[in-house]
Amino acid sequence: MIRFRNGFGMLCFGASLLSSALAADAVKTSAPPCAFVHANVIPMNEERLLPDQTVVVENGTITQVGPSKTVVIPRGACKIDAKGKFLIPGLADAHVHLLSPNELPLYLANGVTTVFNLDGHPAHLLWRKQIARGEMIGPTIFTTGPIFERARTAEEDVRLVDQQADAGYDGVKVYNPVSKAEYPALIAEAKKRNLLLMGHVARGPDFELTVQSGQSIAHLEEFTYTFFNPQHDDHDAHIVYDESRIPEAVKLTKEAGIFVTPTLSTYATIVQQATDLDAFLKNPEMRYLPPWTQALYQPAANRYKNGFSPGEYPQIRTSLAFQRKLLKALFDAGVPLMCGTDAPEVGPLPGFGIHDEFQEFVDDGLTPYQALQTATVNVARYLRHANEFGTVEVGKRADLVLLEGNPLVAIASTRRVLGVMVRGEWLSQAQLARMVDDVPASYQRELRRVKAELRSNPAAAVKYLQENDPYLNVGATAISEIVTAEGFDQARDLVRKLRQADPKSELVSEQGINHLGYGLLGKKRYKEAIAVFQMNTEDFPKSANTYDSLADAQFKAGDLPHALENYRKALGVDPKYPNADTAAKFLKDKSQ
Ligand SMILES: [Zn+2]
Repeated sequence: MIRFRNGFGMLCFGASLLSSALAADAVKTSAPPCAFVHANVIPMNEERLLPDQTVVVENGTITQVGPSKTVVIPRGACKIDAKGKFLIPGLADAHVHLLSPNELPLYLANGVTTVFNLDGHPAHLLWRKQIARGEMIGPTIFTTGPIFERARTAEEDVRLVDQQADAGYDGVKVYNPVSKAEYPALIAEAKKRNLLLMGHVARGPDFELTVQSGQSIAHLEEFTYTFFNPQHDDHDAHIVYDESRIPEAVKLTKEAGIFVTPTLSTYATIVQQATDLDAFLKNPEMRYLPPWTQALYQPAANRYKNGFSPGEYPQIRTSLAFQRKLLKALFDAGVPLMCGTDAPEVGPLPGFGIHDEFQEFVDDGLTPYQALQTATVNVARYLRHANEFGTVEVGKRADLVLLEGNPLVAIASTRRVLGVMVRGEWLSQAQLARMVDDVPASYQRELRRVKAELRSNPAAAVKYLQENDPYLNVGATAISEIVTAEGFDQARDLVRKLRQADPKSELVSEQGINHLGYGLLGKKRYKEAIAVFQMNTEDFPKSANTYDSLADAQFKAGDLPHALENYRKALGVDPKYPNADTAAKFLKDKSQ
């Protein structure tokens, strides 16, 4: 766990940051003032560089920016010598998936002081509070609620949107299966509740309705799957990369006034993983990912390596080239773009990925200044917090990045970070390096802690995981290691104890156990996976999906007769469960 630690050697801050008598959402502001002296400031409010400036920060806010000759530095302020260096606003990654507080230092070390998280869980809302209170160190978090990931009724959507707004999420995230019937109600309620709109282009409503509703679009790929697929059927093979239609797509987007997060370097990593996974895996920064995320990239589990056949390589390469043209056309028309990476499960790594997206934008024809806008002012405007961050100006939050080189001359200079100030806390290059170096070990420490606590104090383990493991990765890994080390009976006991400790625990819910089983199946540990799925059918006999999962594992393990039997059971329990059509087809094909 990376928490703010007093013994960390923060230059400008004392133990006061840890004082506990704080209102729930109060931002901690008792750090002494700090001044960057003799800095070349790139304020990002217009394209210019202000030489030899002093920037004073007090109570987490920028209070003075001016020529070093004239600015009076408050008494007692720490001084950061920025002579010959370049000071830019903290960067914002407009598309991330935060899996663990352990990865947050990776963002800071790369100059990312704000993130927009695209599938929020209660843990993210908690981290945001802890960060604001100075109890956890990390970027400022904006987050959508949980993804709208399946078709629902309009009434259900309205209820869910209200729940998300009440919980404190900033926006809604729309995903592919949202239906045309429900979409207008979802959007209308989100607007009524003043939530940000972001997501894929849901296939039912399709492109025009989506943009005209004012929903911003994540991933340029989404244009290709919808606007550029005349058959509207979600088959990649039916996409027509027709450049003559780009102006029409751009016009609709521009008229709608929406933002677009291209995640184009992300798509480039998808192409690389599909066509040359070895090269992708050579990235030394992979070691900063949790082991369970690293495992997803390995050849056996890699969804892009295994998802595309060599026959499809030309299609994805064409798509990448086409998206690059589309990017430039959108930019030229004045559509506001946002820099987003989709880190860490698609390809780009937390923090590090933002520099690749900048490079991609510059390679596609943006100037370095225009590329920087996509991760500063544009994101601040989209998030409706342009009065708080995105520029180096008096009154803005003290989120600042000190660079060795001038990024307006060479965009790659954003990679050479000499120090980061986040909400007024200065983290030197050496401090950032120590935090980053500790990241790989932090995952192991956390796993050991969770495994020990699961045995000694299940209730505490459940609480810890609820607060720190939004996608159940640590919990599932811990239980699966217990299954392996101590056998299935021990694990079964443990699951029961955890359910007793917290009947609502997601980790040992039907879905949690299903997730655990699929984790084991992904590692080809068939016997253990089947035992886990079997347990789920016994504990949740009225759920069709438990039999479906068991059947899936049995089929993969080569046990066709039992697989058929359990698909039949699944259909018997609920003939209309989500995977029913596939199961029925499987039975028809394999029973003969
Ligand atoms: Zn995403």
